[in-house]
Order: sequence, then C-alpha cells, then structure tokens
Amino acid sequence: MRVPDAGLVRSVIRGGVRRRIRGYRRRGGILMYHRVIDAAFDPWGICVSPRMFDEQMQVLAEHRSTVDAVSFSADGDAYSRSGERLAVTFDDGYLDNVVAALPILERHEIPATIFVIGNAVGRTREFWWDALERAVLAPTVLPVELEITLGDERHRYTLADGSAEQATDGSAEQVTDGRWRADVDAAVTDRQRLFATLWAAIVVLDPDEQDRAADDLLTWSGQRVSVPRIMVDDNEFAELAAHPLITVGSHTLDHLSLTDLSPRRQRDQIHGGHRRIEELAGRRITCFSFPFGRYDDSAVAAARELGVDIACTSVPEPATVTDDRHTLPRLQALDLDGDAFARWLRDDHRLLRA
Ligand SMILES: [Zn+2]
Repeated sequence: MRVPDAGLVRSVIRGGVRRRIRGYRRRGGILMYHRVIDAAFDPWGICVSPRMFDEQMQVLAEHRSTVDAVSFSADGDAYSRSGERLAVTFDDGYLDNVVAALPILERHEIPATIFVIGNAVGRTREFWWDALERAVLAPTVLPVELEITLGDERHRYTLADGSAEQATDGSAEQVTDGRWRADVDAAVTDRQRLFATLWAAIVVLDPDEQDRAADDLLTWSGQRVSVPRIMVDDNEFAELAAHPLITVGSHTLDHLSLTDLSPRRQRDQIHGGHRRIEELAGRRITCFSFPFGRYDDSAVAAARELGVDIACTSVPEPATVTDDRHTLPRLQALDLDGDAFARWLRDDHRLLRA
C-alpha cells in the first residue's frame, strides 16, 4: 500500500475544507456550453445534442431560475443561499448556436451570453481543433506514418499499435470510439496518443502555423480540407447581437493559449478581440471569457483593463459571492438528459432549488 505523505494529506484536508466553506457561501451557477449538435466524436465533451439541450433548458425554465451572466457581476443579484440562479453561456461563436440553440432558448425564454472569438466571425475554415478531431479521430483508416512540420520543427509519428489498420477488419470500435474523452480518459491507443500529442503541439503555435498544420493533417488523413462554414458570419452575428435574449461577449482575437504568450501578446489578443466584437456589435461589450479556460495574473490584468463586468474561466465550480468577478468559474454542461442534468446540478453542486 502506498503511504500518502503528510503534505498530501494536509492539502487534501485543505481542499475539502475549502470546498465546504465555498458550499456555505451565497452562490449560483454559470453554465458553459460550446456547440449544440449531434456529434459522432467529442473528445472535450463540448457538444450537447439539440434534444438534450432542449431537455436541459426545460429544467431551467421549470425552475424559472435563469439570469443573465452579468448578474454575477460585483453588484449582481445572482448569488443566493439556495443557489437557484443559473446563467447560460456559450463560447467561440459556432453557427449551431444560431441554428439549433437559439430557437430552443426562444421557446423557453432563456437568456444566454455568447462569447465570440473576434476572428471567428465570417471565418470560412475550421479552427485547428475541429480539423484535428476530423483528421485523427474520424477516419476508419489512417496511414501508419505521419511526418509533419509544426512551427519550425519537423516531427515524425508512427501508429505502431495497429490503431491505424485495425479499422479495416471491423474491429474499429476501440479506434473510432466516439465516447473517448481526451480530458478524462487515458490515451490508450496510438491514435489517441497522437491526438493528445498533436493537440499540445499545435495549441502553442501562431494562427497561420495552426492553419497550416490543420491542412497538412487533413490531407495526410484523406479528409476534405474545405468543409461548410461552422462559425457565425456577419449577418448571424448581427442577429445574435440584436436579439433580446442574447448578450454577446468577447473571447480574444484568435483563441490562442494565453498562458503561452508574453503579457504584451496576451493584451493584444484580449483587447484586439474585444475591439473587434464591439465594432461588429456597434456598442460597448461588458463580458469576456478566457480561451481554453487558461489564464494567469497578466491575462487577468489585461481582461480587467477592458472594464468588463465579468470575465469567465472554465474552473468547474459554482460561482460564490466572494469570487473575483474577473475569474468567475463555470460548469461545463455535458450531453445529459433533463433528469441527469438536474441531478448533476443538485447533487454535485447544490444548485437548482429542489
Ligand atoms: Zn473557446
């Protein structure tokens, strides 16, 4: 048996005490969504099917508990002992937010905040993370060898465990397992390891290098490089910005990993994205969220300089009244039916009054 060291025991106790103290503070929940779509694979758990999203919004509507995310600002009224107030947010600016989510939000009269990447609006190609999923997780068969230039470096990978060829004999389940989660499950097959390795290597590149890597991977895997547009265009953005239920927020210019950038580049990304969204919306924008939930002191300082009411992270906790309004935690809503969604809010987070 492994004997835990005293430092670990102390930190576990501290973590438990901290959670208990947080649990007694006035609180509420900020829900984080990305896409409302039926997805064949979803390694980050960011896709909720339209049917499940409808059931989840039905739960919120029955409790009459939804508020705007900015109600979690300094003088906001979203915090309560019972934790019954919840806000719905979306990140990135996917077209399905307009096509699939908006009619459901309208039917249940639920407000939502959509944090849009500045350079996503009108973008006709995928972002690299969507291309990477399609290139590495979708095909039934992949070439065994991959040689690719990432940034200035040439990389070589081999799919040696058979996860490349296995698919041809019908034993494809492990290879193309749509339930595999990159953030929860261990990478077991070479294909899953390749996905995780490439993701970590591409996230730190510049935008044009990311796009080049995406094209090279799609070509290598035999997938089409160009696909129908999946981000909002100017008109759809304008529809969101004018909609009485929707608040638009900013989400940087290019969705880079802020913690891998210098403070100066962080500021360029955060302020540049905010200006772009304000120009498109034609008015002041009052909320922001950190891409990939990644932030550090200088990124938070740059977000604070925007003068926004709230900035959201992806720390998976309820928001409590003493939290810093520029690093508000958010709970990632998964593809659950209404009952499981309600249980998750109540049992795991003591939100949503019984
Ligand atoms: Zn994002």
